[in-house]
Amino acid sequence: MKNKKEMKNWLEEFKLNHPLVIAGPCSAETEEQVLKIAHDLKDTDVSVYRAGIWKPRTRPGMFEGVGAIGLKWLQKAKKETGLLIATEVANASHVKLALEYDVDILWIGARSTVSPFIVQEIADALNGTDKIVLVKNPVNPDLSLWLGGVERLYSANIKKLGVIHRGFSTYEKSKYRNNPEWQLPIELQNRFPDLPLICDPSHIAGRRDILQEISQTALDLNFDGLMIETHTDPDNAWSDAAQQITPKTLVEMMQELKTRKVTNKEADYNNKLNTLRTQIDVIDHGLLETLGKRMSVAIKIGGLKKQKNVAVLQTKRWNEILGKMILEGEQKGLSEEFVLRMFKAIHQESINHQEKVINSK
Ligand code: PEP
Ligand code: MN
Repeated sequence: MKNKKEMKNWLEEFKLNHPLVIAGPCSAETEEQVLKIAHDLKDTDVSVYRAGIWKPRTRPGMFEGVGAIGLKWLQKAKKETGLLIATEVANASHVKLALEYDVDILWIGARSTVSPFIVQEIADALNGTDKIVLVKNPVNPDLSLWLGGVERLYSANIKKLGVIHRGFSTYEKSKYRNNPEWQLPIELQNRFPDLPLICDPSHIAGRRDILQEISQTALDLNFDGLMIETHTDPDNAWSDAAQQITPKTLVEMMQELKTRKVTNKEADYNNKLNTLRTQIDVIDHGLLETLGKRMSVAIKIGGLKKQKNVAVLQTKRWNEILGKMILEGEQKGLSEEFVLRMFKAIHQESINHQEKVINSK
């Protein structure tokens, strides 16, 4: 897939002076709920109303969506509010129904993007239509699989495309429901600057209190839009209750978010600079996290050495590590002097930690 300018055209047709905002409940529950939330989102920054009709649930027995009836409710919401409507499709019959009810934007969920068969089935069912299709990242951090989904649609003549970054599952515990791994959308953006990129902070966070900071990072990284789950009674939502916010909170959050409008050359320069600086911040944060992990492994080694009464400093092993790192560093354009200085500092910090363990009672 080449970087096709036409991919961004649909977004430009919106003529927004702010990021594209897609909001609405995780799931359509009742006609009344769908209409109420849509009316509360009318006359805000929201342009697209979302609601899941078919819900891919991790475990069976959970609420799996109201099904096709929800499309009627969405259509009514569109008629009454003028908002465009969006829903998730996961097979050809979903696509057929969504087309019948003239859903404006269809998205492919994270659990579907992982399967080339499903994405192909959806792409074939959409061939010949001019729908906007957004591809969520696969649950696992695999950029090729994500791009592969976009390519399958592009080859089926779907040209109004975009991607949604909703974070990635990890086994490790973290403050996120789905780890953002910002380096993936950053790389995607560097490779395809004209592919509209939308952040879904709701599924990244899994909780309300960090939605704002995730959304701000996304805007600082020059994302084109946000998809935020919104419900009039979040605590009693039938799915994803912990992460949904009320329309009122969404409006407040949007007011707090700093968005950058590109109006002239100076602003364009600042915008690019800010995006790059945020990329550096994300990378630095990752560096610290990695160093922290390295120290906890060093501490474990300290514990073992203490049991065996072995000296902390193992010169032979240390020289081997250094030699390897200098070679690897060279391949990445890092000078020998820098690699030496950096690893000496890291090594010293490890020794300090290990000595603390060994000297503890
Ligand atoms: C959703 O948007 O409600 C959803 C199910 O998202 P994801 O595919 O990102 O889990
Ligand atoms: Mn959800």
